[in-house]
Amino acid sequence: MSGDEVIKHYTSSSQCEVCGQSYETDDVRIVGHDGEIWILYVNCASCHSQNLLAALIDENEDFQSGRREHLTDLEGHETEKFENTEITSNDVLDMFNLLSGFSGGFSQLLG
Ligand SMILES: [Zn+2]
Repeated sequence: MSGDEVIKHYTSSSQCEVCGQSYETDDVRIVGHDGEIWILYVNCASCHSQNLLAALIDENEDFQSGRREHLTDLEGHETEKFENTEITSNDVLDMFNLLSGFSGGFSQLLG
C-alpha cells in the first residue's frame, strides 16, 4: 500500500477527535512506516489540533481503524509539549526513532 492510499484510507475512516471535522488528504502526512505500522501526522484544518499517531494497516484486510490508537507516549505530559507549538521535523524523527527502537515491538503499543 502506498502512502497516498494510506492517507485516503485514513481520511475516509477518521475525523478530528477534538472538533469532529473530517480530515482532508492535505491534513495528513506520512511520517514513516515500518512494515504494517504507519506513523501519521495530522493537522486539523478546522481547529488546528495536531496529532501523531500510529496506524496498523494490513494489506490483506480493510483499514483497521478500530486498532488505531494514539501513541501512549503522547498522552499526559507529552501532549502538553505539542500544544500551541508546531511539530518540527526533529520531533517527528525523534518519535519515529523511539518507535523503531521500541523493544517490545509495535504490537504492544497497539494492544
Ligand atoms: Zn479539529
